Amino acid sequence: MRINCLSCGHKLDLGDAYDDYAGQAKCLVCGAMLEIRTEEGNVRSVGVAMRIGALATGVRENTP
Ligand SMILES: [Zn+2]
Repeated sequence: MRINCLSCGHKLDLGDAYDDYAGQAKCLVCGAMLEIRTEEGNVRSVGVAMRIGALATGVRENTP
């Protein structure tokens, strides 16, 4: 299973274990977290799960 890192373009060789996989994989070159989904050895989708320095969203404080 090989995917292209969206952040740096490096070809990541993830091995056979990722032929059917949905979740995160880390690029060893640039450190970006990729959200990937594969089926039967084919890439279904690749997205950036977290960019370096990105802040978590969805937390909203209750203010009176
Ligand atoms: Zn990368």
